Amino acid sequence: MTTPLRTNLAVLTVPAFKDNYLWLIHDGSNAAIVDPGDAAPVKAALAAHKLRLTAILLTHHHADHIGGVPGLLQEWDVPVFGPRKDGIALVTHPLGEGERIDVPGLDLALDVLDVPGHTLGHIAYVRRSPGQDPGADWLFCGDTLFGAGCGRLFEGTPRQMMLSLGKFTALPDDTLVYCAHEYTLSNLRFAQAVEPDNAALAARVRDDGRQREAGQPTIPSTIGLERATNPFLRHGEARIVQSLVEAGRLAPGAAPVDVFAALREWKNTF
Ligand code: ZN
Ligand code: FE
Repeated sequence: MTTPLRTNLAVLTVPAFKDNYLWLIHDGSNAAIVDPGDAAPVKAALAAHKLRLTAILLTHHHADHIGGVPGLLQEWDVPVFGPRKDGIALVTHPLGEGERIDVPGLDLALDVLDVPGHTLGHIAYVRRSPGQDPGADWLFCGDTLFGAGCGRLFEGTPRQMMLSLGKFTALPDDTLVYCAHEYTLSNLRFAQAVEPDNAALAARVRDDGRQREAGQPTIPSTIGLERATNPFLRHGEARIVQSLVEAGRLAPGAAPVDVFAALREWKNTF
């Protein structure tokens, strides 16, 4: 059997529930699904594109990310990769920070990051493709980073989430961000409230607003766009600190982790 020098991998958007995105990575024959909260739309996408499921990848234990696993396993006998520390009984290949997997069936290596905050065991998957075309670096970040926002702190601390997001900001700007929910427009409203003078943010509000009006996802975004517009990656900005102080949510001169915590707290009730 010969191995092709290079395969063309694609990522299909599989919408589920109200605002979830399940990500189907495929090469035209084989496919891996990220965070299958529901089996039915995944099965439909596999059938529509004539794909064979070869792996399941999970980021964290919430039902809207793992609920479809039993239904998929009934039809496909495939390994289930997932966090070592999030207590998911269905995981057959537990993973943590620093590990790299070769995704079965695909010419695809993914690095694993521990990104506690939303849940304590939450992991993310990174595809690093140095020297390849722009758009060949991917991040599957579950409910940690969102378009212009971040996940709620159900289990972790503000410090943990801040450090987890910091791992993402170290990735190349053209890394595509495949997060698990379409929350971008509501996140952008909050982002503009805390950083009203950000021109990149105004441009994103316009662009992503058009996307949604056309019925299109705003995801994937890029790390560069998130760095330029996402308040949770920009909590060091003086204007954001000023907004928090003016709102009576922060004392002047607060530490970065307190700024981050105040920002997350404000968003919870915005
Ligand atoms: Zn979640
Ligand atoms: Fe979720």
